[in-house]
Amino acid sequence: MTSRIRFDIAVLPGDGIGPEVMQPTIEVLQQVAAAQRLDLSFVHLDAGAAHYQRTGESLPTESMDAARAADAILLGAMGMPSIRYPDGTEIAPQLELREALNLYAGVRPIRTIKGLPIPLADPRAQNLDIVLIRESTEGLFKSRNHCEIVDDAIARDTLEITRTTSERLFDFSFRLAARRKQLGHVGRVTCVDKSNVLGSFAFFRKIFDERARLNPELIADHAYVDAVGLWMVKQPWMFDVLVTENMFGDILSDVGAGLMGGMGMAPSADIGDEYAVFQPCHGSAPDIAGEGKANPIAMILSAAMMLEWLGVERQHEGCLVAGRQIVNAVDAAFAEGYLLPYELGGTAGTVEISAAVIAKLDSAATA
Ligand code: ATP
Repeated sequence: MTSRIRFDIAVLPGDGIGPEVMQPTIEVLQQVAAAQRLDLSFVHLDAGAAHYQRTGESLPTESMDAARAADAILLGAMGMPSIRYPDGTEIAPQLELREALNLYAGVRPIRTIKGLPIPLADPRAQNLDIVLIRESTEGLFKSRNHCEIVDDAIARDTLEITRTTSERLFDFSFRLAARRKQLGHVGRVTCVDKSNVLGSFAFFRKIFDERARLNPELIADHAYVDAVGLWMVKQPWMFDVLVTENMFGDILSDVGAGLMGGMGMAPSADIGDEYAVFQPCHGSAPDIAGEGKANPIAMILSAAMMLEWLGVERQHEGCLVAGRQIVNAVDAAFAEGYLLPYELGGTAGTVEISAAVIAKLDSAATA
């Protein structure tokens, strides 16, 4: 049995369905923590569009400081199309966090769960287990808040690729592929770019090749982003780890969510060298907020990713076990085929889905 350990978790529930999916996720975490001798202490922090509307601040300094002081950060969803800054852009503290904490590796697992209807009919799509890594601090998003508009006639957003961030991003991707290889995956990293057209991507690819040479035990290849768009729909099982620029990753990760059945199935982690934020791929989904229809699985699986990250970083076996227990409970909840979330055409909402996951954790604990 591993020793008892305490983690301070910063919780930013945010807007729309963010708080709705956060609450059951904390219940799930408390359940697995008790069994693995983990003391998880949750501190709830203000941030988001509703907070901005009330106070004029989207990410208060106190919240930022508390997030930095925590062992890990859990984020629900932030932003509301109806609440904007004076320049018309949406409130997005999740992007500010990525930039401020240098969370360059956006990890987006694309894993299908048995028992759920998914868009692709091919049986190989039922066993999908690939990972998309989205660079999350630069690329085209670097121009956020810095668009140059000339005489109301030309608008320019500049794409920035840096050697420092790219090296870290590719090293992270190769490390992840190596860990996956130990679990039976092929051990391949595919660099997704547009190097046939843009010099910035030729640079991105050159750095990828340099880092690939340091990892000869892994397969390294390249693909153009437009082709990856096609293959992610036609035969996504051909991939293992994909790594790409921020904007391309933003788009492809929604394709990945589609392959899993919907945004509510897609977890993610934004990881840097010191900090990490775990949040679902989805936004605040104002169209369903308050209706009890939000699928909490993306948030719950993001919390499992948090435990896995803490387990690897702090070399704590109990965290790794707790993370796996959550994933197994989610898989078991859907395996019987009766639990069908609203977004997949069913009638199971936040309460039913969370209760089913917690019931599976209970039955695994007493088995
Ligand atoms: P953002 O730009 O903030 O990431 P978005 O434009 O991608 O947001 P989302 O808020 O993610 O939009 O919602 C996209 C669609 O997916 C909406 O129809 C929404 O209702 C649905 N959706 C998102 N998350 C969930 C969820 N957890 N459960 C069910 N449906 C969801």
